[in-house]
Amino acid sequence: MRVRFAPSPTGALHIGGIRTALYNYLLAKKQKGTFILRIEDTDRTRFVPGAEEYILEALNWLGISPDEGPQQGGEFGPYRQSERKGMYAQYAMQLVENGHAYYAFDTPEELNEMRERLKKEGNHMARYDQSTRMNMKNSLTMSSKEVKAWLDAGKPYTIRIKIPENEEVVIQDIVRGEVIFQSNELDDKVMLKTDGMPTYHMANIVDDHFMKITHVIRGEEWLSSTAHHKYLYKFLDWEDTMPQFAHLPLILKPVGSGKLSKRDGKKFGFPVFPLSWNADTEEESFTGFREAGYIPEALLNFLAFLGWNPGTEQEMYSLENLIEDFSLERVNKSGARFDIDKIKWFNQQYLHAQSNEEILLALRPLLKEKAWAQEDKFLLSFIDLMKERASFYPDILEKGYYFFEDVKEYDEKTIRKKWNESSKAALLDYQKVLLGLDTFSASTIEESTKSYLEEKGLRFGDLFPMLRVCLSGSTKGPSVFEMMSLFGKEKVMKRIETGVGKFSVLI
Ligand code: GLU
Repeated sequence: MRVRFAPSPTGALHIGGIRTALYNYLLAKKQKGTFILRIEDTDRTRFVPGAEEYILEALNWLGISPDEGPQQGGEFGPYRQSERKGMYAQYAMQLVENGHAYYAFDTPEELNEMRERLKKEGNHMARYDQSTRMNMKNSLTMSSKEVKAWLDAGKPYTIRIKIPENEEVVIQDIVRGEVIFQSNELDDKVMLKTDGMPTYHMANIVDDHFMKITHVIRGEEWLSSTAHHKYLYKFLDWEDTMPQFAHLPLILKPVGSGKLSKRDGKKFGFPVFPLSWNADTEEESFTGFREAGYIPEALLNFLAFLGWNPGTEQEMYSLENLIEDFSLERVNKSGARFDIDKIKWFNQQYLHAQSNEEILLALRPLLKEKAWAQEDKFLLSFIDLMKERASFYPDILEKGYYFFEDVKEYDEKTIRKKWNESSKAALLDYQKVLLGLDTFSASTIEESTKSYLEEKGLRFGDLFPMLRVCLSGSTKGPSVFEMMSLFGKEKVMKRIETGVGKFSVLI
């Protein structure tokens, strides 16, 4: 099995592209085959600098790097179409020689004229096809002498495929089953452009053939081109080695109909691209899944289920499990809805399963950014306390900021409800208990606190809400004993004093 992911470097790689790459990768690994990255950059007008690097970085970050590609090399290279451009024209010529394609000399103005004329006749789907080609300026309507003269004179031309009339094109798609196209519905697509560069269709087929691709797995938007591709294999006499096709379902917006778009990300406030992209214009810059703190394994697990399911209840799938269980036969035909809550859920599962050390590694750059320096021992205990309360890496720091900085905001509602002379007295009295402790471990604090409450005939609710508000600003958070132990005695005392001072003014 040799499969390829063939993105065009026209900007950041959409999450749908990543899913295509993932499915290709999974199948290649399952069959002990080869996963190839090919950069389809023949359309120089749409080329965006940095896009290829972005694609590579995204695949590397997700751990689904190709076996062959522009970075890795391989015996079927080069893997950028711009570096292969010398090899395509001869196959377009071969098509002409065998009568399966023709030279078209029509100028852009003439093509426009044709469209306008047909529009007036009520045909709004004007195309260059079997119904119009004989009214155009091409080697089918011109004498061979004239064609030669025009070619010799260096007149610009394109080469168009000549789609046969009245045929049925049957595609056996692994996902969609039998798909039938009527040849009369297909246009005579351009294979070679006036600048001598191939179009996507021509380059794609030539490369798939020479790279010995066995399976073409790509998004549904390419299904309609597959009939043309099948003709190309036939006309070039490569039918025997034509790859099998599998077209993956569309990824749909979270609500409503249509494809998931960049705008949806902006609208709903979640990433739709793997990595951030900082183009010059505001319009083009966005936060990626990586920068938003997603764990690559969680994103992969989520993407695997976007159009596929194992047919069981199991949802948690490592990359290795996916390689074992994934199959194209279980890919759905219908569109897959992008559910941001589901990916958050996956991320939370993966985050909670990570060791404190792994999380610390991910948090280091964020800690550095905030200039929150602490010893690793402290940081690991902090992570241990906070990770259960977070869905993302940055959440851990946001929710637990008070481990590094003074409390910024106190929960006023609790203060109004719980702060009174007796809770103040209890808190001040309790300070003495803490002061008397020789060791400040969670268990010693807990023990002495419990016996203190018992001795004074107090309930938990008489002390803890306000104690917590002093320490962290809120009544929610990790175990108060663990928290105090990590803060250390001095800081705990200070926070109680600061709290008591502030609350008395508040009420
Ligand atoms: N270059 C095409 C793209 O950008 C590749 C489609 C295919 O896989 O054939 O998606």
